[in-house]
Amino acid sequence: MEVVKGIPVAPGVVIGRAFIHEDVRIRVPMHSITASDVPRELERFEQTLAQVRGDVERDRDHAAEKLGPEPAKIFAFHLGLLGDPALIVPIREMIEHRRVSVAYAVSEAFRQLADRFRSLEGQVFKDKAADVIDLDKRILGRLFGADRDRLAAITEPVVVVAHELTPAEAAGLDPSKVLALAVDVGGRTGHTAIVAGALGIPVVVGCQRLSEVCDDGDRIIVDGLGGTVVVNPDALTIEAFEQGMARMASRRARIRETAELEARTLDGTRISLMGNIEFAREVPDLLENGADGVGLFRTEFLYLMARREPTEQEQYEEYRRCVELLGGRPLTIRTMDLGADKYTQQQAEEPERNPMLGLRSIRYCLQNLPMFRTQLRAIMRASAHGPVRVMFPLVSTTDELKQARMIVEDVREELREEGLDFDEGVDLGIMIEVPSAALMASTFAREVAFFSIGTNDLIQYTLAVDRGNASVANLYSGSHPAVIHLVKAVIRAARRFEIDTSLCGEMAGEPIYTMLLVGLGLRTLSMVPGQIPAVKRVVRSVDVESCERLARKVGSFDSERQIVRTLREELEKVVPGSEDAWVSGSHR
Ligand code: PEP
Ligand code: MG
Repeated sequence: MEVVKGIPVAPGVVIGRAFIHEDVRIRVPMHSITASDVPRELERFEQTLAQVRGDVERDRDHAAEKLGPEPAKIFAFHLGLLGDPALIVPIREMIEHRRVSVAYAVSEAFRQLADRFRSLEGQVFKDKAADVIDLDKRILGRLFGADRDRLAAITEPVVVVAHELTPAEAAGLDPSKVLALAVDVGGRTGHTAIVAGALGIPVVVGCQRLSEVCDDGDRIIVDGLGGTVVVNPDALTIEAFEQGMARMASRRARIRETAELEARTLDGTRISLMGNIEFAREVPDLLENGADGVGLFRTEFLYLMARREPTEQEQYEEYRRCVELLGGRPLTIRTMDLGADKYTQQQAEEPERNPMLGLRSIRYCLQNLPMFRTQLRAIMRASAHGPVRVMFPLVSTTDELKQARMIVEDVREELREEGLDFDEGVDLGIMIEVPSAALMASTFAREVAFFSIGTNDLIQYTLAVDRGNASVANLYSGSHPAVIHLVKAVIRAARRFEIDTSLCGEMAGEPIYTMLLVGLGLRTLSMVPGQIPAVKRVVRSVDVESCERLARKVGSFDSERQIVRTLREELEKVVPGSEDAWVSGSHR
């Protein structure tokens, strides 16, 4: 039995069999196979070789066409290696006699060959070593590309264990086949964590070396509330976890009963509780959880899942579906927030050294205008079918806002000329996610119809803590006084200029912050749909005056610990036991 402590992301406890989601970027762990698996693995190897040969030939032809015959010659070395018996035969032998998986055999053979080239003097051999590694990646990429098929082929749901998962991979997981997810790296508000959390299954990230200590088929417990993962648990541990699972299920069922009730405080103040979504298909679940609408539609997932730019018509249909499913409830569409952890740097011509501070979000849109215009046209056209608002992510200067607005104006003009329907009154807003925007909130408030405070990024940029890095996760906190000061300043500015403000970072869905956020003046919170009933329960148990008192008290503290302790104590007083029942993370 091995117990691994990680970072809790989404609550729930499950016991299941592990499915190792292979990642070509890390060392391939040794997987033994049985004698009966050998023919199948050998067959897989031959098929993969043929596929990779085809890939390399295509790249060679492409290079020859674009760059001429000379550069295309480098592919001759790759093709030669793929047919070289000195490399291929030992791989076959390893599979057959040492009974290891094809992935392990390939990575071992290629690693040894690369090491041999590296040990020789001269740049030419160093280059050859790089070519060998490239080919190794191609083969492993093809092999693990089959992972999805492997996952699709399983009949019993599994617990997916991965070293690293991209947000798009997480969004592609099918919750009917995946009981839980445990990932070696990542922080609680990284996009992978957020998307995985929305699947409604227990999720733990930051599990360090879990994917190495766990094998395909191992029995595994994932506790998404405590952040614990147990590999090959003993009987006593299983019994204890099973009891915990039953307790949690009945608690969550009780909380869900409040879903249909109104989110009104004891003194009658209405708080809008909205959902954050990535796809229109999530709307029914969101409504079941009692949401008042969608406060954040993360549209970039349409691009990430398609792995190409979706057409205007495809986007329009997705947004329109969302509007229709919402049946008159409001929909806030965020323009694509590509870049940083939602953009595979491998695909970029020049990978960025600091992608979190790089070409992401509105910056990316303003440098990719045709793409941006296509999206804006699709959004505007969808607005003809119901209430839609548009917001721009990661705005840090007023110039960005001006440019974005000019493009919207242009798009509107174009649609008018084409005689296409849209709502002329669509409100434009910005996300407040960087300190510069928060500090200049009064300036921005004169220019937009609404703000949505994105604390996931605001915390990371205020505290200089990567939101997806498990090693610094202890420093990432929404309870830091600096974060609270900025949130407060934004709300004040919005009030002064009488514009709407909401908060759509993960903090909005953590009951520990509900009273503070209401006390600071927020009347709209947007969160992962599954958290709505829990937050609603807090809202229905408090009055605004005591929330304001709490906000004043917390505002006078300069210690993050003191703030957390106070918020915990207050929550415990109004809704006892709530900290155990619900996920809460950015204050840990
Ligand atoms: C945020 O940064 O708080 C936010 C809601 O946007 P995202 O999590 O998609 O970056
Ligand atoms: Mg953000």
